Amino acid sequence: MENCLFCKIIRGEIPSTKVYEDENTYAFRDIAPQTPQHIVVVPKHHVTGMNGIDGLTDAQLAACLRACREAAKIAGIDESGYRVVTNCGDDACQSVQHLHFHVLGGTKMKESMA
Ligand code: AMP
Repeated sequence: MENCLFCKIIRGEIPSTKVYEDENTYAFRDIAPQTPQHIVVVPKHHVTGMNGIDGLTDAQLAACLRACREAAKIAGIDESGYRVVTNCGDDACQSVQHLHFHVLGGTKMKESMA
């Protein structure tokens, strides 16, 4: 998508700190980390969010979760624990309309998710 922020990051038009990349996904450090480790994982194919996942193949969708696990390993939080979050829509405060998964860790998080 021409004007999508995360598509621009995938294309290298906006700089990012890459953590992991494969054929289907790109993972980079969040610009405003909410935990000591905060990585954003996106599919390279643009879909707007959870409500758009029918626009991905099952392989592309599964690749996102595998990339979250790889990013957690690279960040060194796979053993200590991490949270994978995706926000969808206004109530969830989704601010970028390109499906993405937050991989959060490096600290003890609250039990509550809302
Ligand atoms: P969400 O609010 O769930 O849509 O998440 C969007 C995330 O993208 C936020 O955590 C932002 O901090 C992050 N973000 C926005 N712009 C950039 C950027 N240029 N590089 C890295 N992360 C970004």
